[in-house]
Amino acid sequence: MTTRLSQDEIERYSRQIMIPDFGGKSQIRLSESKALVIGAGGLGSPAAFYLAAAGVGLLGLIDGDRVELSNLQRQILHTTQDIGREKVASAKEKLAGLNPEIAIKIYPTRLQPENAPEIFAAYDFIVDGSDNFDTKFLVNDTAVSLGKAFSHAGIVRLHGQTMTVVPRKSACYRCVFQEPPGPGELMNCQQAGILGAVAGVIGAIQATEAIKYLSGMDEELLTDRVLTYDAKTMNFRTIEIRKNPACAACGEKAERRSHELR
Ligand code: ZN
Repeated sequence: MTTRLSQDEIERYSRQIMIPDFGGKSQIRLSESKALVIGAGGLGSPAAFYLAAAGVGLLGLIDGDRVELSNLQRQILHTTQDIGREKVASAKEKLAGLNPEIAIKIYPTRLQPENAPEIFAAYDFIVDGSDNFDTKFLVNDTAVSLGKAFSHAGIVRLHGQTMTVVPRKSACYRCVFQEPPGPGELMNCQQAGILGAVAGVIGAIQATEAIKYLSGMDEELLTDRVLTYDAKTMNFRTIEIRKNPACAACGEKAERRSHELR
């Protein structure tokens, strides 16, 4: 099947199609691809907005929460009128309004070990915009076992960090942070606070990585590196990381186990 871009699509995406590294070929690849965004919150909002605007073929959104007044400072998919609505329904309305050319699938539920493998299987790239460590590790382990590339991110106060994982090629989240911190060891943004614009920066980086991967501009992804952002000093740093051979998700033992299961 060869996809052709309509006249409207060529005009809509013209500013990215004219980028020499991108072009019509990447646009077609993107329009045939499927991305899943976990969480329609501070990270998921900007990520989903840019993925929809760029013309990803199918955009999946999973979130079990409803919009609250305290979300609006950073979760820019939602407006004051949306308070009390399911976040995914509110998000779908905005994204469909922005770009009616794409398909949007919503899951008004929480990502759990029971539903993660089936949902992930339908997508090519996953953007993790979740706000808790259990979900971040669940995303990592499910994506690694299914061989799905994904973008991890974490934000708190004026800090953000993000990394891209391409299973079997690069280090995974568990290679670096072996297991979730105990209760009370680390604060999430509900307890510690977050500046909305910091979430916007990191979410936009996650969307950029997804677009690069899905459109075939994937020679240099944010893999085997963690990018940290300190908005207070306005410093970006990248820290090199390595695949851990003893990693419980992607190490030698885990590989052998998944081979035996196959
Ligand atoms: Zn690993």
